[in-house]
Amino acid sequence: LSDRLADTFKNLRKKGTLSASDVDGTVREIRRALIQADVAFDVVKEFTGRVRERALGDEVNKALNPAQQVVQIVNDELVQILGGEQRRLEFAKTGTTIIMLAGLQGAGKTTLAGKLSKWLIKEGHTPLLVAADLQRPNAVTQLGVVAEQAGAAIYAPEPGNGVGDPVKVAKDGVAYAERNQHDVVIVDTAGRLGIDEEMMKQASKIRAAINPHEVLFVIDAMIGQDAVNTAKAFQEGVDFTGVVLSKLDGDARGGAALSVASVTGRPIIFASTGENLDDFEPFYPDRMASRILDLGDILTLIEQAQSAFDEEEAMKLAEKFATDTFTLDDFLKQMQQLRNMGSIKKMMGMLPGMGQMKEQLDNFDESELNRTEAIIQSMTRAERQNSKLLNGSRRLRIARGSGSTVTEVNQLVNRFEQAAKMMKTMAKGGMPQIPGMGPI
Ligand code: GDP
Ligand code: MG
Repeated sequence: LSDRLADTFKNLRKKGTLSASDVDGTVREIRRALIQADVAFDVVKEFTGRVRERALGDEVNKALNPAQQVVQIVNDELVQILGGEQRRLEFAKTGTTIIMLAGLQGAGKTTLAGKLSKWLIKEGHTPLLVAADLQRPNAVTQLGVVAEQAGAAIYAPEPGNGVGDPVKVAKDGVAYAERNQHDVVIVDTAGRLGIDEEMMKQASKIRAAINPHEVLFVIDAMIGQDAVNTAKAFQEGVDFTGVVLSKLDGDARGGAALSVASVTGRPIIFASTGENLDDFEPFYPDRMASRILDLGDILTLIEQAQSAFDEEEAMKLAEKFATDTFTLDDFLKQMQQLRNMGSIKKMMGMLPGMGQMKEQLDNFDESELNRTEAIIQSMTRAERQNSKLLNGSRRLRIARGSGSTVTEVNQLVNRFEQAAKMMKTMAKGGMPQIPGMGPI
């Protein structure tokens, strides 16, 4: 019997509920993992509160595998916060779609302008890039480079004309796009290193001047705990219709995604995953949820919580074996668990590596369980607690009462005693075996 099979068996056998302390332990671990993933503290608190509430509820108690159900809840809640369904870019019904980019300096706006236009061109669009970042000396040149790489057209102020007016450039650029049949125009704007009144005013003026269909807030996924303040500031200062998470390659653990989506309620539309223009993809809430779930090995931790629970059960049983208090009642209970196993036999047949297990269950005879049940139930309470009482006349009475033969009663008692003996030995060592089933 392979370890893996034994583990699976163990898990399937367990039908109990997760205790409140199991849930608390698990929630603690989830909290730690999220904080490690740089999710904002308040967001973590709210999130774990909801998970805890659901994990203590009926849906978990009634689940075949409670720990797995907790994982499902965590996943559900993550996907929910991250926007549920994937949100697509919205295009104008007629005319030119105007997209404005906003975000801190270095967030990845200019790079995104290139990525987005390359992606749009592939989809059959004819984007124009507008260089409305006149803050940094080389910003216009940088946009020129990415435009060329993407094969997109660019609108930029003449170089050497002194400091231009970014609002006018944005407006003129959009007008140029409309005149020249570009169906999408992407307006790159300036950012500062920190949140800044001036910058917000400028961005908000550009927004008012061009009335964009989408304002994409670009945020560096590595920003960590600052994500919340930055996102809030941009939401109040400029407001945006969607979020682009950049630099999701590297060490970024995706926590910023959860924070930003949670505090702004705005959908994440794209993810940027590298310096190349192709390192770019639509954002999928469910994939990000699994990425966050993988962090801190939440799955493993939940499994540990579960196995601690199993151990508790096994200990109780082991104690019974060791102290010779394993009774015919316990024996019957164990047999009945096999019946529950039988009902999931079909399901197991579909799982890889479960062939051997399925065979065991196939050999398990339902009518034999019925007979066992009938025999044990025909015993008095005292007899069930102490099989030594079962002399010849008692066995005859039981056989009659249960509609079986004395031989069958004898067989059952023998099997019980063998099982009890075997388990007593095993109690000192490993996992107890299920009586009546023989060594698995
Ligand atoms: P902007 O100031 O918001 O326009 O940011 P830039 O587009 O100029 O990007 C700042 C730096 O981040 C540049 O060196 C980019 O190459 C880099 N960058 C942008 N997006 C990504 C990304 O998704 N992953 C990585 N690793 N680097 C990126
Ligand atoms: Mg830039």
